[in-house]
Parts: sequence; structure tokens; C-alpha cells
Amino acid sequence: KKLVYSFSEGKAEMKDLLGGKGANLAEMTNIGLPVPPGFTITTEACNMYYEKNEEIWPELIDEIFKKLSELENKVGKRFGDKEKPLLVSVRSGAKFSMPGMMDTILNLGLNDVTVQAIHRNTGNERFAYDSYRRFIQMFGDVVMTIEKYKFDSIFENIKEKYNAKYDTDLNAEALKEVVEQYKELFKKEIGSEFPEDPRTQLVLAVKAVFRSWNNDRAKIYRKLNNIPDDLGTAVNVQSMVFGNMGDDSGTGVAFTRNPATGEKKLFGEFLVNAQGEDVVAGIRTPQSIEKLKEIMPDVYEQFVKVAELLENHYKDMQDIEFTIEKGKLYMLQTRNGKRTAFAAVKIAVDLVEEGKITKEEAIMRVEPNQLDQLLHPTFDAEALKTIKPLAKGLPASPGAASGKIYFTAEAAVEAARQGEKVILVRQETSPEDIEGMIEAQGILTARGGMTSHAAVVARGMGKCCVAGCESIKVNEQSKKFVVDGRTFNEGDYISLDGSTGNVYEGIIETHEPELSGHFGKLMAWADEIRRLKVRTNADTPRDAAQAVKFGAEGIGLCRTEHMFFDESRIPAVREMIIADSLEQRKAALEKILPMQREDFIGIFEAMGDRPVTIRLLDPPLHEFLPQSQEDIKKLASDMKIDYDKLRARVEELKEFNPMLGHRGCRLVITYPEIAEMQTRAIIEAAIHVKKSKGIDVKPEIMIPLIGDVKELAYIKNIVVKVADDIIEESGVELKYLYGTMIEIPRATLVADEIAKEAEFFSFGTNDLTQMTYGFSRDDAGKFLKEYYDKKIFDKDPFQAIDRKGVGKLMKMAVELGRGERTNIKLGICGEHGGEPSSVEFCHMLGLDYVSCSPYRVPIARLAAAQAAI
Ligand code: ADP
Ligand code: MG
Ligand code: MG
Repeated sequence: KKLVYSFSEGKAEMKDLLGGKGANLAEMTNIGLPVPPGFTITTEACNMYYEKNEEIWPELIDEIFKKLSELENKVGKRFGDKEKPLLVSVRSGAKFSMPGMMDTILNLGLNDVTVQAIHRNTGNERFAYDSYRRFIQMFGDVVMTIEKYKFDSIFENIKEKYNAKYDTDLNAEALKEVVEQYKELFKKEIGSEFPEDPRTQLVLAVKAVFRSWNNDRAKIYRKLNNIPDDLGTAVNVQSMVFGNMGDDSGTGVAFTRNPATGEKKLFGEFLVNAQGEDVVAGIRTPQSIEKLKEIMPDVYEQFVKVAELLENHYKDMQDIEFTIEKGKLYMLQTRNGKRTAFAAVKIAVDLVEEGKITKEEAIMRVEPNQLDQLLHPTFDAEALKTIKPLAKGLPASPGAASGKIYFTAEAAVEAARQGEKVILVRQETSPEDIEGMIEAQGILTARGGMTSHAAVVARGMGKCCVAGCESIKVNEQSKKFVVDGRTFNEGDYISLDGSTGNVYEGIIETHEPELSGHFGKLMAWADEIRRLKVRTNADTPRDAAQAVKFGAEGIGLCRTEHMFFDESRIPAVREMIIADSLEQRKAALEKILPMQREDFIGIFEAMGDRPVTIRLLDPPLHEFLPQSQEDIKKLASDMKIDYDKLRARVEELKEFNPMLGHRGCRLVITYPEIAEMQTRAIIEAAIHVKKSKGIDVKPEIMIPLIGDVKELAYIKNIVVKVADDIIEESGVELKYLYGTMIEIPRATLVADEIAKEAEFFSFGTNDLTQMTYGFSRDDAGKFLKEYYDKKIFDKDPFQAIDRKGVGKLMKMAVELGRGERTNIKLGICGEHGGEPSSVEFCHMLGLDYVSCSPYRVPIARLAAAQAAI
């Protein structure tokens, strides 16, 4: 099997094998762009490396060296040559880009002999030793895992010694000293000399890149982005070009459009006399790409053309890495650029309007979960007018965030787990900070540009980020920052505006997002294309109205018990529960009726003529009563009833396994009067709204936890009698549906029988999942982690529908249900209804609608459109 490909042998479609970086280097090579030649070791080789217990085997080494000698011939330089030495970079690159998560080594091939050749050939001694010190550090850090700070402190000491502000202020002599000390460090840490033989260097570097696939930050990143663990990384070996050869050289990163706003304008940064990571590592503050126009107009013009060509070629915004060596431009990487949700939507819509892609393509370009970022509040503009910013940094990733400041990732994670809202404040972030960034509401860094690590990662996560805020002086050790002579300590509140870069003291009021414009256009296209309808789960008029704004086409689940928990109602609910007799219970229900009716009136008004599915009482009754002795005592005195009596009732309601206990339809079978009251409230509210507002209300009454058709038939008698009597008496024409949740596995097996009594099914996939697996959602968290670690499960079945098991039951229920009643309405109201892959599955099953929480409605609309494409 071929395990090594020259760039000229690959193409963009080969990402599985060559990784994204390798495939695009090949593609750029083949469309004639200036790419330094090289070759790619495949992801398959990486996986074989792991199969062989992390050893590189002789055949692979042979194949690598064969390609290496082809490369040597092509560029006319040789590895380790005394006259014309070849230097290469060894670069990681998986199928999906994982910026900065894996490792890359530059300037490989340098040793005490070749460094002199480089000096002689270029006449630039400073450059030769600058490259050498970089190589020893990267090799020591990445390949031999010597801690990076040890190199950094040597470098800083020498900078101090020579009074140098920046790395570029060090001359050749100083850099030679750095090299000497680095080598000593290497020897001390590793116990042997720095390896001089370039072939040994190469094999070790390839291994290190393979290994970096499984470093902690890469694993966390994959988990966060749902990238499978078994893809492996490719390794790109590429001849070096040098941006550190002087003031006519440099290196940079650019996006063909603005990745934060989507604006159609080249956006990027570069550093003169620099190499590789310098731009993103925040070593010196980079210059904007526009400056390149002044410094090197020809190179700039050429770059603009290449950028345009690449964007048109890939038909998407590109993120490009380039290097200029003595006035000559080289392309080192291109990929579809990561972007904020805002930019993603704008770019997708703009590309359609520029005639470059179709509406369908535009819809596929936006990750549904990303929309979440657009639906959340921004700071209140009026409130902002009255507040002066503390400081201003770069608007690295939009959004508004307020929270308590923490200075390390660990402290941020810890505080967030305690339920705090956290702002992570760092000098600059590094990939090790990823967990802290995930937990934080927002990120503030003192150093680094728009393409710094913090900025790139935050945009990817849709997290508010202000970067390079140089006026705040961060002291991570003493956990504080100083700005304008004022000190902020750990735990103090600040607010960040990621759209302006402003940093404020304290907490600021926020505002609802803008849903028209590009967003509105894209969503309208999605609506044209999707077949699934999207409803919402809402229990209050406020949530219902919010969901309608987000495009909800009905309510798929209104949980009536949430209304019972309201402080003003719970006394009546408790009265009902502890009632001794039917009369007492009915009296208590009489008190609840008008309140419940008011709830439904509000909801029907908010929903207009859209269907509203209301579920009758579901949870076990003990949930409404206090459990501790103290609370029971207090309640007994509040209710003016006997303590022992109340306690006895609490005891009586205790269950060993409440989830499988007296709940759902079982409550109604014991207490039909509850269903009578709720039906009355629903139907009276509907009639009221229809009469007073002329709205064609469409209530759907849903019975939870049905396992047998006889349960459904029994309750139907009660519901239909109450409803029809009220309707007849009112003289208003009102249609309603009677249906059930499908959430007990048995119900899926006998769905044909159940369909005889049900006009609709709504899959309650939370219960269906827990009962199918036989583990409870509330307890599974404790042991599922082990399942992921041990690779027994790769994802949470409560998040994405388990298509194999739970999905098979759903499919059966759909077929049996439709077989019995062709026009039966089918939907889903479990949490899965707003999760894109589950929405896709519901589309495949042929359901009529999905229902999800209000803020997930746009996500489900887009996911449903993607499923239909
Ligand atoms: P990452 O995946 O972390 O971006 P890369 O493999 O892209 O790592 O390497 C980082 C940087 O190193 C590149 O952006 C480029 O500036 C520099 N680099 C990589 N290969 C070469 C090369 N052959 N010549 C010059 N610079 C290189
Ligand atoms: Mg790169
Ligand atoms: Mg349920």
C-alpha cells in the first residue's frame, strides 16, 4: 500500500488520506501556485503506527526516504549536505483542521555543519542561527517533550543580557549563545547530545507528529468538535522557505473575507523578518495585511490575486498561510476559514448573491449548532452609552459576556463548575487553556492579534473574546490585572463586548438579537427547502412568543406541571395531593382550574392558529411535596394541618423507583378528576380565545406514558366527554386532537393498537431512551464518562438519538401507527428534537415535525433543511 504521496500526486478530494493540509498543498501545487515542494505521509500510516504499538517500521522509513531523495533531486539540495543542505518542515494535518492542536517542526535538517553552509550560502549569519535556535527549541519541545518554558527562560535571559526588546534585536553572536545554551539544556534534560543526523531527526519528528494526534488538547478539541478519534493525522514534509531572512522577508496569515463579520475584504496580519508561529504566538504585535501594500507592493498585489483565485477555486472563504522569502511569495496552507456564526451566515448568503454557490450549498455551509451564537443577547446600546470602557482590545469574537474574572484555566473551570459565570483573563492563551475557554462566558487576553490562538479558538466556539488588550497589565501569579491605575482581582465582575473589543467594569444589561437581514434570508431559504415542520417546547406565553419569533410553527410540548410549581399555585396543588376524599380533591382542583385556564389563554393567544400540544400532568406527586422533616413541619403549619398526617402522606407517596412509578397516565387512572380539570381548562381557554379574539385555536391533548391501548381508551372516555360537553354547551365550533406520547418501549411495539385511539404520536425520546437502555438520565452521568473513556460509547444517547436501538423502535412505531391510521400526526418532543443529527434522523423516519426549546428552533429549521438536501 502506498503510504507516501508527493504534493504533485494528491488533490483536494483526498483529505481522508492526506489530511486537509496535505490535500490542499497538493491542490495548490497542481493549480500552479508557488508552494515549496514536499510530500505527505498518509493518515493510514498514522493509524498503522498506532496498530504497531507506536513504532515506525522499516518499510515506511524506506518509502519516506525514497520520497525524500525525489525531493532532494527536485530542489537540488541534500539532507545534511555540507554545501547545499536541504531543510524541511514536518507538519501535522488531519482530515478536519484542528488549529494549533497538533505539532509542527520547522528548519529540520540543521546541525553544526549545515548551519554553517546556510550561513555561507546566504551570507546571513544571523538568519542561520535564528533558524537553528528555533529548530532546537521546537525539536526539544515537540519531539523530546522538554518543557517549553525552559527554552523561553533561556531566551528571555539572553534578550535581557543584550538589552533586546524583541527577538529581532538579537544579533548572530547572541543567537549563537542561545543555540549553545539550548543544546546544554537538551543534554541535561535528555541525557544525550542533540541529534546531528538529519535522517534521525526526521524519523523522530514524524513519530512525534503521529503522537501529537493523541495529546490531551487534541483529544479535547476532537471531543468538542465531534471529530472521531480514529482518523489519524497525516504528516507533511516540506522544503523550507524562510521569512526570517531580513526585512525583505516575512510571514503571515490572511482570510479572504473577514472571519468575524463576513465583510468581503482581505483580512490578515503579517510580521516582517519572522518565521512560522511568530504571527499567531503573539511574540511581536503583527501588522495588518494592508501595510504589506506599502512595504512590498508587488508581493501584495500578487497575494491579492492568489487569494481571489483560491476563493473562487474553493468557492468559500479561505484561511491562508504564506511566507515571503527575499521578496518572493510562497503559499504554505489554505483551508476553508473558521468563522463566527454571523460571518458564516453573511458569507453564505453573499456567495449566493455573487452567483458563486446555490442556495442549497449556502444552507449546507452553516453548521446549525453555530446559529446559537446569533440568537443570544448583545449589550443594551443605551446602557453602553452611559458606561465608559475600562479598556479596548481587538474585537476577536463577537458576543456579549459578563462574569467574574479568573486568571488560569483551572480556576475558571473550577468556578464554572460551581455555577459561576466566568471570564477567563490571560496574558495570552495557549492550547492548554482549552478547557478553561470552554467553560468561560468570555475570554480576555492582553497580548496577541486577531489571528492569535485565543481569537481563533473563541471564534470556533462562538465564544465572546477580546484579544490583545494591551492596556491591561495582567499578573497571573498574583491573580489580578491593573488598568489605568485600578486593580481588578480574581472574582471581580467585568463585561466584554466581543464585537467592539470593549472591556467594561461590572455587569451590563443585554438585548435580544437581530433576526432579519442575512440571517432572515438564509432561514427563509431553509424554510423553502425543508419538509419537517418545527415546533417548540414551551410552557409559558413568554417562551411561546419567543419561539414564534424564532419561527416555531406550533407547540409540540406544553408541560402542565411546570405551571403547578408556581409559588401562587402550589398550595392548591398540595391541597389536592393530600386530600382525603374525592370531594376535597375536587375542591382543590376547582381552585387550580382558573389559574390553569389563564395559562392556556396566554399560550393560545401567543400561538395564534398554530397547533398547541398540551400534555396532561406527568411527574409523580411526591415532587410537589417537601421531603425533609423541617420542611414538612413548616408546610403543615402553613397549611394548618396535622404534621403527622402530612408526614404520613409524604411517606405513602415515596417510591423505590419513581421514574417507573406512579406517574404519567397512571395518575389519571387513579385520579380521573385531574384529567377532567385539565381538559376543562384547555377547552374553556380555547373557546374563550376563539370567541374573544377570533383565533382558530388548535389544541391537542396529549397523554403521557402510555404502554397499553386500554390506558389510552380509558382516559379518552374521560377527556372526550368533558371536552365535547363544554364545546356543545358553548355553541362554538372547536376541533381538538387526542393523542399520546410514545415513550415506553412497549408502546412502540403495539403502536398499531395505540393508533386506534390516538390521532397523533409524539415521541418522548428522553424517556424512551432511558427505558430502552434501562438507565436513568439522572444517574447515567455518573458512569457514562467511563463508557466514553473505555470507548464503549462514543456519544451520549440522550444528546443524539441512538439510531440503532431507540431509532429502530421509533421506526417500528411510525410504520405500525401509519399502517393503522394513515393520517396520524407524528412528531418528537424529546430534547433530541433540537439536535441536528437527530433532526436528520426524524426527517429520514418521515415524521411530520420536531419540537425543541425556543432557542433551538432556528437550529432545527436549518438542520431540517440540510436533511432535505
Ligand atoms: P498549524 O497546523 O499549527 O498551523 P503548520 O504546519 O501550518 O501548523 O505550520 C505552522 C507555520 O509554520 C506555517 O503557518 C508556516 O508559517 C510555517 N511553516 C510550515 N512549513 C513551512 C515551510 N516549509 N517553510 C516555511 N515556513 C513553514
Ligand atoms: Mg497552519
Ligand atoms: Mg416522558
